[in-house]
Amino acid sequence: MSKHKHKKTEAFDFNGGWDYSPSPESTGHVKLKERYDLYIDGEFVAPNSGKYFQTTNPATEKVLAEVAHADESDVDKAVKAARKAYENVWSKLSAKERGKYIYRIARLMQEKARELAVVETLDAGKTIRESRDVDVPLACNHFFYYAGWADKLEYAFPNRNVSALGVTGQIIPWNFPLLMAAWKIAPALAAGNTVVLKPAETTPLTAMLLAEIIHESGLPAGVVNILTGYGDTGAAIVNHPDINKIAFTGSTNVGKIIQKAVAGTGKKLTLELGGKSANIIFEDAPIDQAVEGIVNGIFFNQGHVCCAGSRLFVQESVADEVIQKLKDRLDTLYVGDPLDKNTDIGAINSKEQLETIRKYIKIGKDEGASMYESSCELPKKGYFVRPTLFTDVAQSSRIAQEEIFGPVLTIQTFRTIDEVIQKANNSPYGLAAGVWTDKGSRIFNMTSKLRAGVIWANTYNKFDPTSPFGGYKESGFGREGGLQGLGAYLKIER
Ligand code: ADP
Repeated sequence: MSKHKHKKTEAFDFNGGWDYSPSPESTGHVKLKERYDLYIDGEFVAPNSGKYFQTTNPATEKVLAEVAHADESDVDKAVKAARKAYENVWSKLSAKERGKYIYRIARLMQEKARELAVVETLDAGKTIRESRDVDVPLACNHFFYYAGWADKLEYAFPNRNVSALGVTGQIIPWNFPLLMAAWKIAPALAAGNTVVLKPAETTPLTAMLLAEIIHESGLPAGVVNILTGYGDTGAAIVNHPDINKIAFTGSTNVGKIIQKAVAGTGKKLTLELGGKSANIIFEDAPIDQAVEGIVNGIFFNQGHVCCAGSRLFVQESVADEVIQKLKDRLDTLYVGDPLDKNTDIGAINSKEQLETIRKYIKIGKDEGASMYESSCELPKKGYFVRPTLFTDVAQSSRIAQEEIFGPVLTIQTFRTIDEVIQKANNSPYGLAAGVWTDKGSRIFNMTSKLRAGVIWANTYNKFDPTSPFGGYKESGFGREGGLQGLGAYLKIER
């Protein structure tokens, strides 16, 4: 008997003989070290303090490995190495040669794609289907894409003088660990900068595998340095006086601290922060596809997505149908072992995040919204939560205003276009939005009025290295991906 038990539903009858047997991805080919050191100046070195911390598998709560906790003195060493590499090697190398190294990193990542996908799933809790089919291929694509620009900067920005910034400090979150490292490192190198990068404390392992790949690629020592640690390590990077640019992806709270710290220093800054994105379904939308788009929008990667479509707006005339279909679909989602290829929703990234999500679910109930959760069984061990939705949600409600960063959807209805635009824009955030309608003219009308950096039409969560991504308001500023993402790592003059 499968552990996945689904309620039989009227709209979707997946239950009649549709239960899958477990299909776990093997981990036999993965040889994790007991301990990972810092990657500084082309060498793996112990942290000056001698301190290490553990990283665990959120699906089993078992320790995977120890990683170093870098302090200010390690950061200083890495920045000095990055400066030396920038002055003496990287800026002297022809752009064509720089591009070759970036291609080489991309190809080595492809060769090790399976190992990277399994380790990402072990360390982050995300499903193997996602890390194998989305995170790792997209991360490789970012390196391939930016490798192509390295020797074509003058064509990328015609009639402008472009030059590298120097040493860049990059701090990334835990929701897409390898992909965020690729988003940061690839354009920085293509633009001719050197890098000091810190992965998030709960997901350091694929960054350390990437350090090994970078080492194997023969990239000159000091061009990329990868330091593991907590927020204090990130702060040491932000505050180091010899860094020319900070690129940060993470929470709005930490983004604000960083913006204050950087103010007046002359450091360039890009911030990719939180979101509370609206997914808007009009009555003329293809309803079944829209339901799939809603599911993808909020339940992809356990809802740990800054652009997650966490606020659903459904036109009143189709609300009952959409909500019923959504509830039925919720019951068909497999929650469980992230290594199982059939799993739709894996583990919540950490105990802290699980507590945050539970706190918001309680707030939703206390505020008087109606909750519906899937009827699936949850594994006994590990950090899991059932996919959940709330109806009868007030615009002012905390669950509709604040980022939950979990598989929790709020649903509101609307009657007119003006009303939904007003409601969708009534948020401190402005990262993404989705619009589902049959009418092209309505799509263009909506895209011009919604205050969001990315707007998807009749789809959601589509990513491509050529396409810029970033936000308005408290979702941050600056763009990553595409030419805009390259420009963010260059000084561009007339
Ligand atoms: P989340 O809420 O998603 O965990 P955070 O913003 O706390 O997001 O973390 C994103 C990244 O920022 C992590 O790598 C974390 O270690 C780092 N970080 C946390 N606090 C600071 C800080 N004060 N300065 C710089 N980096 C920080």
